[in-house]
Amino acid sequence: MLKIKFIGTGSAKASLKRNFTSLLFQISSENILIDCGEGISKALLQQNIDLNLIDKIIISHLHSDHFAGLSGLLTNFKLAGRSKPVQVITHKSNLPFVKNFLLSSFIIPERMNYEIQFEDFDYNQEINLTDDLKFTTKQNSHLDKYKIHLENYELSLASPSFLFTYLDKKIIFTSDIGNAEDLLLFSEPVNILICEITHIEPGELITSIKKLEPSETYLIHIPDEKEKEILDFLSNQSSEAGHIILTFDGLEILVF
Ligand SMILES: [Zn+2]
Repeated sequence: MLKIKFIGTGSAKASLKRNFTSLLFQISSENILIDCGEGISKALLQQNIDLNLIDKIIISHLHSDHFAGLSGLLTNFKLAGRSKPVQVITHKSNLPFVKNFLLSSFIIPERMNYEIQFEDFDYNQEINLTDDLKFTTKQNSHLDKYKIHLENYELSLASPSFLFTYLDKKIIFTSDIGNAEDLLLFSEPVNILICEITHIEPGELITSIKKLEPSETYLIHIPDEKEKEILDFLSNQSSEAGHIILTFDGLEILVF
């Protein structure tokens, strides 16, 4: 059984109601955190997650609401007396920055009481997280708008969408996307779609859902000011779009 816990379901705009978007995949005794924006340590504690339980941290991209809590979280691992290693996983072009960010935040290997292992991936590569859970990624257009700045700044524009496979179940986690076309990067039908709803409109989502045929769609990365519009839209949806759920912090779903 795979348990997916929604640690945070908010957008980049700070909210009193929602933490920044973050998911926790729990399978057997493995705990895999996906994204760790500012405030992630407190968000985990509030949801009764023992920080020492986390084995792997995946960082989707380098917008602050998805990674800026990493150094604080790793510091809190140390303060919680952690001794077991943790793995930090991100796209290969993000890794030099992530390593520098941690060193600059005084996460110095010799001073930690546990080991931080780094693993990178490239698009389309298959990464095994456990014996039963793996993922692959494709590049989406979320960060394309920054290409014009590459002349002047050294930026990593890695922005993957994720396809997780758990046994025979397929789960798309869109991460942040650029437009509705990014929803169709993986051509195959899926069982579960975890979709951000900041950068697309609900109507565009329905068109894609009909192609991806998920039995359940979970909306995340929800701006407070858009919530009512989304709820109104969903209340008028027919059942042919499957089950669409506006998530909230602390929601747990089980995948068998
Ligand atoms: Zn983003």
